[in-house]
Amino acid sequence: MNSTIKKVFDDRALAVLQTINQAGFEAWFVGGCVRDALLDRPVHDYDVTTAARPEEVMQICENRWHSIPTGIQHGTVTVVNDELPIEVTTFRSDGTYSDGRRPDDVSFSDNLMADLERRDFTINALVWRPDIGVRDILQGRTDLTSGIVRAVGDPWTRFKEDGLRILRGIRFSVELDFGIEAETYNAMLELAPLIRNVSAERVTDEFGRALLADVFLLPVGLPIWRVIFPDLLGGDQPHRDAFLASLDWLHWKELYPDFTCRLAAFVIVMQGLGYPEGELEGWIPPTPQQIVSAALHMADRLRLSRQQQKQFAGILSVFQNIPEPDVMADDVKARYWLRRQIADYGQESTLFVLGILRFLARISLPQNIGNFSAQYINLLYRRLSTVSLSVLADSAPRSLKHLAVGGDDLIERGFVPGPALGNFLNKLFDAVLAEKVSNNYKDLMAYIDDNLEELLQDTDLLHLN
Ligand code: ATP
Ligand code: MG
Repeated sequence: MNSTIKKVFDDRALAVLQTINQAGFEAWFVGGCVRDALLDRPVHDYDVTTAARPEEVMQICENRWHSIPTGIQHGTVTVVNDELPIEVTTFRSDGTYSDGRRPDDVSFSDNLMADLERRDFTINALVWRPDIGVRDILQGRTDLTSGIVRAVGDPWTRFKEDGLRILRGIRFSVELDFGIEAETYNAMLELAPLIRNVSAERVTDEFGRALLADVFLLPVGLPIWRVIFPDLLGGDQPHRDAFLASLDWLHWKELYPDFTCRLAAFVIVMQGLGYPEGELEGWIPPTPQQIVSAALHMADRLRLSRQQQKQFAGILSVFQNIPEPDVMADDVKARYWLRRQIADYGQESTLFVLGILRFLARISLPQNIGNFSAQYINLLYRRLSTVSLSVLADSAPRSLKHLAVGGDDLIERGFVPGPALGNFLNKLFDAVLAEKVSNNYKDLMAYIDDNLEELLQDTDLLHLN
């Protein structure tokens, strides 16, 4: 086993580990790198736990690598070997936790056991070094083999110390497709309100990683996500339960692996949750607008980057513009709708919405999403995906700047320069998207002559001729 997992570790990280060991200090790989190597998953970051104190680590590595005292008070030094950062942390036992997130003080120790006991889950408390192999003090190996996330020690105590562990646990279960040990899960549910002590950045991180996992284990995380986003779910309780029980997330992995796309898909489904199917006296299903406003409210509390916010809003706008069935009965109108979305919100957001519709069509929705029936979503998806092939391949302009007629051409024709020209050009652009005229100078000019009155309406544009 030692030699098999040794192969997956990066030589640069191994060199740092060996160097500390050879300097006479006990040192081990710990946490995610050991866990992922044993699971045959890609290792994405390296943590070393060692008896050496931070200043000793810096001294040992001094002549070979650059090291950065990233968290010296917590005992962490980042050693950078040829661009690979390796986090080296001194064996530690944590003091009391009074803020529900971070220890008030930490003390260094010479004791590996104490260091492992402060770690969150047994699967994260396995250590490895080349000469000995895996050392498994807290029975993490059995949990790893059986696919179980289990807190180290008493889960209630551990989650009260740090509420982030609850989210990490959910995320590991989703990412690794593991079950959660019963007591650990009970404590998570009971103590979920502690997540409110966790910073929005960390929540977004963990939530984002769960959303990006291949398998989305919704029922496990739902009660937890609900604590942070109370307005996540639409509908009412009995219908929601029925919906949840029937929901099949197998197709989740076919969605685009993009955080904003998945977040939008998730909120759209969650908002649609539990809205009863068919006729219900006095029942008014939520409109796409209501779904969108709930989604935006939720996104407000996530710390999305500016770019993500823009993309998220774009995806929701396209969703909000989903046409009525009669529009989709006609190819020209369907192409127009798609081109209009691409022009207004970008190709990526529009394709994301197609991906979300495909997902909705495949999860065999038992009821409406917004006021769209499952049947309509199916039809819509099939229609739009067929039409999108021709739209993406065609040469229609994607934005005003691709229009074959520009402001200067209009001025040359006797139009008065000014901002109203833009409105006029936009109308012309829209006519091209709707296939009323093709995008070449001659045809466009003829179209202007034939439809001048209509084009001038509401543009405030003065035409001199
Ligand atoms: P990944 O890197 O995939 O997120 P990881 O388990 O390596 O998973 P890191 O954040 O890199 O997570 O942390 C490294 C190790 O530090 C963990 O495996 C765990 O042993 C310990 N650890 C991290 N965060 C906590 C925490 N909040 N409470 C207790 N131990 C933690
Ligand atoms: Mg890690």
